[in-house]
Amino acid sequence: MLGQMMTKPLTISSLIDHAETYHGDAEIVSVETTGGTETTNWAGVAANARRLGSALTALELEPQARCATLAWNNRRHLEIYFGTSGAGFVCHTINPRLHPDQMSYIVDHAGDRVLFFDRTFLPLVAKLAPMLETVEHYVLMGPVDEEARKALPKVQSYDDLVASGDAGFAWPVLDENTASSLCYTSGTTGNPKGVLYSHRSTLLHAFGTALRDCIGFSAMDVVLPVVPMFHVNAWGAPYGCAMTGARMVLPGPDLSGEALVNLIEAHGVTLAMGVPTIWLGLLGHARKAGAKLESLERTVIGGSACPPSMIDEFRDTYGVDTIHAWGMSEMSPLGTTNQPLAKHRDLPVEEQRKLRENQGRPPFGVEMKIVGEDGADLPHDGETSGELMVRGHWVLESYFKRDDEGLLQDGWFATGDVASIDPDGYLTIRDRSKDIIKSGGEWISSVELESIAMAHPKLANAAVIGLPHPKWDERPVLVAVPAEGESPSEQEVRAFYDGKVASWQVPDRVLFVEAMPLGATGKVLKRELRDEHAGLLAG
Ligand code: ADP
Repeated sequence: MLGQMMTKPLTISSLIDHAETYHGDAEIVSVETTGGTETTNWAGVAANARRLGSALTALELEPQARCATLAWNNRRHLEIYFGTSGAGFVCHTINPRLHPDQMSYIVDHAGDRVLFFDRTFLPLVAKLAPMLETVEHYVLMGPVDEEARKALPKVQSYDDLVASGDAGFAWPVLDENTASSLCYTSGTTGNPKGVLYSHRSTLLHAFGTALRDCIGFSAMDVVLPVVPMFHVNAWGAPYGCAMTGARMVLPGPDLSGEALVNLIEAHGVTLAMGVPTIWLGLLGHARKAGAKLESLERTVIGGSACPPSMIDEFRDTYGVDTIHAWGMSEMSPLGTTNQPLAKHRDLPVEEQRKLRENQGRPPFGVEMKIVGEDGADLPHDGETSGELMVRGHWVLESYFKRDDEGLLQDGWFATGDVASIDPDGYLTIRDRSKDIIKSGGEWISSVELESIAMAHPKLANAAVIGLPHPKWDERPVLVAVPAEGESPSEQEVRAFYDGKVASWQVPDRVLFVEAMPLGATGKVLKRELRDEHAGLLAG
């Protein structure tokens, strides 16, 4: 033998061990479902995770048993992330905003054995319980009182369960390809599909997110994951933070602009992560309250396209750098982040800013290409659009318990996004393939038209949909929420597109609504808008 390096499995227990050993005193602030705030640290989280792991092991669940959560971002949820996976079980986070029928489908399909839930969801869980045949243990993440016992006689207390466990519990040695966590896509079409992450994919994803050109978690950071822990593992923030010893602020159930501004200012948050709709609320409140957001250095914005006007406001008013990111549940979720290259430094400032608007480039570990309808590769020239294909260390190979023959095409996963890629690898998402507007044989990007509308000072939110048109097949229609106290005219909003896009791309109509229909992950439900207004351009 020439020599050899050690082989240690890449496991989630090793992450929490590291956080405990080297960053044990790094604080974790948690807003509880009751509204109060608790402070713990990585050592506290690690000790409780081990206690929980030992208590779950004593329940004699089968290896890789699914343990579900219905919970906000809080410290108990963080302990469950590490305690379940660390002990060889699968942490299955459920999105509480799904329809109850979808939830019971998911629990049944996953075969969940344990269900951890926050007090908020007691009525929901009590209603669902008779349907949940696989669940044996209902664990309330907070004090159990008479009311809880009445609603759900089988309920146990999380705190008692943890207290019954052994803080000296030794994590089992697992194969790194063991499943660690499970997350269902929101299933806007058909039943939700489960993405089963492994210890290895989670660890490699954590390394990826921690890279400086990616999110760049650091021991110097105070991280506020506004993105829910029930949505693609809060974009991997719990793992990236444990890996680097970053401090965390877990915001609990109240994600209003006011609550978030207060948290950022009270706890010196340096890095905040979330979808654009969340930041609309935050910026609205910060503007009104004259907040300074002094500690905040960067925001990671993704999940749907970040309007350039949002990047500008963060930078110009608050000195905050926005990292525009793209990804999906099937990618754990990280696909790309927009960070500059050295050669951009010499460009005029305006050009540098323009380059920061798209979805960015992949870190090591993710490869991308675009293909045409015939499946042939298309050039990465920044202009040509095609279906985006991906592969990599943390990309899905097959869905959980589904017959997925033929899901991959030559080893690539088809994202369902239409995109272009420039010669440096920067990605621009033009649309989801089901949202792109086909007008007279040409494609119109709804994302581009939305970004323009979002910069209109009298609009608070905007969505562009393609509606059936007798002559052009489809035409774009802008659905917009006016900013508070404003009532813009249809004409002035349409005129705002002049000179910004070709005239045939300007939306035919502007419809004003009070609020957008939002899906379980905070994205605008365009299908609902399309159904509602289907006949608008009919004749
Ligand atoms: P779903 O929305 O189906 O529940 P995901 O949360 O995994 O599933 O969403 C992934 C999709 O969200 C991507 O395929 C893409 O269409 C969209 N998306 C994510 N980030 C961005 C972004 N920065 N810009 C545009 N679209 C985005």
